[in-house]
Amino acid sequence: MSTLNGIQTFEDLELSQKKVFMRLDLNVPIEDGQIKDELRIQAAIPSIQLALEKGAKLVLCSHLGRPKSSEDSQFSLMPVAIRLSEILGIDVNLIDDSESDALNLLLPQLGEKSIALLENARFLAGEKKNDVNLSKQLAKHFDVFINDAFGASHRAHATVVGVPNYVSTKAVGLLMEKELRMLDKMVHSPERPFTAIVGGSKVSDKIGLLENLLDKVDNFIIGGAMAYTFLAAEGFSIGSSRIESDKISLAKDLMDRIKVRDKKILLPVDHIVVEKLEENATYQATQNEIISEGWMAVDIGPKTIIKFSELIKTSKTIFWNGPMGVYEMEAFAKGSISIGKAIASSESFSIIGGGDSAAVVRSANLADSFSHISTGGGASLEFLQGEPLPGIEVLR
Ligand code: ADP
Ligand code: MG
Repeated sequence: MSTLNGIQTFEDLELSQKKVFMRLDLNVPIEDGQIKDELRIQAAIPSIQLALEKGAKLVLCSHLGRPKSSEDSQFSLMPVAIRLSEILGIDVNLIDDSESDALNLLLPQLGEKSIALLENARFLAGEKKNDVNLSKQLAKHFDVFINDAFGASHRAHATVVGVPNYVSTKAVGLLMEKELRMLDKMVHSPERPFTAIVGGSKVSDKIGLLENLLDKVDNFIIGGAMAYTFLAAEGFSIGSSRIESDKISLAKDLMDRIKVRDKKILLPVDHIVVEKLEENATYQATQNEIISEGWMAVDIGPKTIIKFSELIKTSKTIFWNGPMGVYEMEAFAKGSISIGKAIASSESFSIIGGGDSAAVVRSANLADSFSHISTGGGASLEFLQGEPLPGIEVLR
């Protein structure tokens, strides 16, 4: 049997007539019953199809959003069931109450023309508490547990870590296998130089990531709002740019640790600034690092783009998390898109982690030029911070 660091992989798993519980991440944005972005549904299709080809009796499970109770019908997976059925060309039966006998009655009828999808796992009272009874109740129907929900694997919820405890055969799905191979390669055998590009809104969100990467990467590039906490730590005036004043000493300490290790850290050398952050705001580029009183930085400037791109070009491994500016506004997306293009045209092994960074890359049609776009924001960051993910550990 082939394994991945002691975890059973999917390819050579015998599934004929086996009752299979497949945990997926079908947490797609839905507005008024309309799916706004079906990327996660599309990403789940290969594992579903492989299980069907292998002759499984397949039951899918996912969470959706953060419902307060099972009455919260806007969080129903019904639109997902309909879309899955269209894509696969088979029946997808939505099971309203996973704890009822419905599952038991339906399972014998499932096959290549019909699968089941359990209603939103977070409708179940015991899901987030990882309730033992719920886990047993679900697990008793199944022979095999497959986890293909990388994005949920950092959470110790019943359908992620509870159910597999009571199912004898467990394996990792195709999407998650690729995810783990890619992240593993990056963490354990990166080609050098290895550059981490970290941006986005907060130092406090990414401090664990920066610390863990300290001994792994050769270069840091810091952009986005968090760069201003670092620039403030260096003593530059940063105007009214968004910073975390209580993290300045932390930023200083991190920079010292990076320099002591003889690693490079690049901060922005110029900025796009506005007086007020709003759509169609008048903006200008600064001459250097210094930002005048009353102005705030919303993107990296042209000199910074060139400087960052030069380092990117010489890197062999790149990890990017967090946009360089307020990319949601077109005028301030330029820094992020330029960095995306620089990575795309480099010859590096490149991974993007983080929902917003991935959104930048997709909107600029650059996705195909990256080695891997991680599907699990929080999960990939925890993995890179060296924390064991409960949903993965339980598969060992
Ligand atoms: P990711 O989802 O890729 O991990 P984050 O969620 O950490 O990224 O950060 C994304 C957010 O950071 C975006 O909403 C963006 O507007 C914001 N941001 C980036 N640069 C700045 C800046 N200079 N000032 C304010 N917000 C910024
Ligand atoms: Mg984000």
